Amino acid sequence: MIARGMGEGAGVSGAPPVSSRGDESGSISGSNGSAALNGAGGSNGQFGRPHRLSSRRVLVLNASYEPLNVCTVRRALVLILKQKAEVLENGSGVLRSETMRLDMPEVIRLVTFVRVPRDIHRRRITRKAVLARDGWICQYCGAEKPALTVDHVIPRSRGGKSVWENIVASCASCNHRKGNRLPHEIRMHPRNRPRPPGPTVFIRIAAPRTPVAWEPYLP
Ligand SMILES: [Zn+2]
Repeated sequence: MIARGMGEGAGVSGAPPVSSRGDESGSISGSNGSAALNGAGGSNGQFGRPHRLSSRRVLVLNASYEPLNVCTVRRALVLILKQKAEVLENGSGVLRSETMRLDMPEVIRLVTFVRVPRDIHRRRITRKAVLARDGWICQYCGAEKPALTVDHVIPRSRGGKSVWENIVASCASCNHRKGNRLPHEIRMHPRNRPRPPGPTVFIRIAAPRTPVAWEPYLP
C-alpha cells in the first residue's frame, strides 16, 4: 500500500517503480524515535497527508555530497526504501503508515554516484535564475535592489546572444544608462564574468526559503 502510493513518477535514473510490499523491509537507518507528530498521517495507510507532503522538499546530494537537486518527500521515501539513498538529516515530523514509521527526511544522499552531464547545468535561462546566480546584486554598480532587471552584456542589437555568458543582473538605472552600447564603449563591465550557474542556484530557486538543515550542504 505504501509502495503503491509512491511508485508513480518517483524513479531515479531509470529505477523501476516500487511495486511490492517486499520493499518495506525496514531499511531506514538512523530512526531516532522522535516523538514529534506533526505531519503524521491519517488512517488511510498512506504516508502523511498529501497536501503536507507535496509542500515539503528534500535536498538530494550526490554520493560525493555535492548538492544535486530537490525532490518531493514521496520521491525521497522511494529512494530510501529502495536503499538507493540514505538519510542525512531529518526534519520535524513523522510519517506513518499501517506498518511503518519514518522520520521526515530533509536531506538525503544517493548511495551510488550519479554522473551529472555537463548539460544539466545549462538549464533554461530565467530572470530569477540570473538574479540568483548574481546574488541579487547589480553587476555594474553593485547595488542590491529589490527590482533588478537582466541585461545583455553585448546587446542583442549588436549581435549578443541570450546565453548565460552574456546575461547579468542589472539595476534599472544601469540598464538604462548602458543602453545599446558595448561594455568598453561606456566602460561598464560586469563585476563577475557571467557563467552558467551550478546546481545550487536552481536548488535555492526551487525552495525559496532554504531549510536550515540544508545550509551546511549548500556551497
Ligand atoms: Zn546598477
